[in-house]
Amino acid sequence: SNRTFTMIKPDAVKNGHAGAIIDRFIKEGFRIVSLKLTKLSAEKAGEFYAVHKERPFYGELVDFMSSGPIYAAILEKENAVAGFRELIGATNPAQAAEGTIRKLYATSLGENAVHGSDSDENAKIEGDFFFSGLEQF
Ligand code: ATP
Repeated sequence: SNRTFTMIKPDAVKNGHAGAIIDRFIKEGFRIVSLKLTKLSAEKAGEFYAVHKERPFYGELVDFMSSGPIYAAILEKENAVAGFRELIGATNPAQAAEGTIRKLYATSLGENAVHGSDSDENAKIEGDFFFSGLEQF
């Protein structure tokens, strides 16, 4: 598949970086398929990150992801999942390469500005979590 799913996380929205980040997506050749500003309840954030339920940082992650508005988006480009993960950089901004979105805009390991799907299968699941069929064209 040539699509991935992303969220601009509450830290980046709060810090005023959402516009620059969306601009960067477009400049890097990603077409915006679907895009919305929304806010996750704690319940919905817990559901989205259910795969991390047993991890020690799960509670912190759920609190953070439901702490403020986020942008959710489906993006399209050849080799989207891998290309997008390269664009955002390592999970921990301290380890992220120069010029990557996390290097530029992330606050910390937990508050790391953006999410990017880790597989084509999860990109579809995550996109469907936020967007109806009518919103994905
Ligand atoms: P994402 O799924 O958000 O794109 P990722 O795939 O790079 O991130 P994961 O290991 O799947 O990283 O972790 C999911 C998210 O959980 C991270 O983006 C980060 O916000 C948070 N997280 C991961 N490890 C920690 C940690 N040790 N302490 C606090 N938060 C963490």
